Amino acid sequence: MSTSKTLFITGVSSGFGKALAQQALAAGHTVIGTLRDQQALQTFESLSQRAHGVLLDVTDFDTIDAAINQADRTFGPVDVLVNNAGYGHEGVFEESSLDDMRRQFEVNVFGAVAITKAFVPLFRQRRSGHIINITSMGGYITMPGIAYYCGSKFALEGISETLSKELKPFGIFVTAVAPGSFRTDWAGRSMQRSPRQIADYDALFDPIRQAREEKSGKQLGDPVKAAQAMLQLIASDNPPAHLLLGSDALQLVRDKLAQLSAQMDEWEQVTRSTDG
Ligand code: NAP
Repeated sequence: MSTSKTLFITGVSSGFGKALAQQALAAGHTVIGTLRDQQALQTFESLSQRAHGVLLDVTDFDTIDAAINQADRTFGPVDVLVNNAGYGHEGVFEESSLDDMRRQFEVNVFGAVAITKAFVPLFRQRRSGHIINITSMGGYITMPGIAYYCGSKFALEGISETLSKELKPFGIFVTAVAPGSFRTDWAGRSMQRSPRQIADYDALFDPIRQAREEKSGKQLGDPVKAAQAMLQLIASDNPPAHLLLGSDALQLVRDKLAQLSAQMDEWEQVTRSTDG
């Protein structure tokens, strides 16, 4: 197999998507990247002759199939799909509307699924392909104020793992990549914050919101190093179904699994009591 591949990455204007596109181009790969405005598309295409922009919002469900088939025919065949586009909604559950939740799931879950659905028939016919879904450590662990975000990332983790089992017989791999905190625009310009309304939550939530705002741009993780890790993943003959990125994610997810296991042990008798 050739080591130079064609990647289709959603959301290459900033953060992980931009870093992965740049590192992939520097490594000799071809990148088809989605963007949401013409100016950003031109900037992206000026990076390299192997950088091809596609104007697409991942919630433009009626146009996704045609856009992807055309991009695959024109610049492909695509070897690797990276569902990266997404954002974080932050807000206390009681203060966050159903519309906030719908929008969060439209982009982070339905958007990624719609893009994946367009690629699966192509990959299945070719008996090859790798789908990388950028989830989050928030797809394993939770904290107050990001219920909808965690819900969307738990959903994508579950869909991703299931799909990996359905597609493995065809030689197609699916990996859910769950980053910890990285220096992207996620907690800055991209975050949707529901306004505060209920004083009862001030003590719990105000420090969390403030800490996230203050930490934006100073997070532990380097998106360029995440991109290099993903290039390593793409080069693997046997990529895993799950990959965490960042020592914060590693620690927090390990703690969560240990707590879950301890709770299962504590309640084992009750759990077993329903058989028969
Ligand atoms: P980012 O810098 O804000 O980048 C987000 C990218 O997604 C941008 O290119 C943005 O495009 C695009 N996007 C957002 N909504 C879109 C839509 N409806 N259609 C098409 N493109 C859309 O943040 P990031 O951290 O790199 O985010 C990338 C992924 O990593 C997300 O799924 C995020 O949840 C996940 N993640 C981030 C962190 C972190 O700490 N940074 C941790 C775990 C997971 P525009 O420029 O047009 O807005």
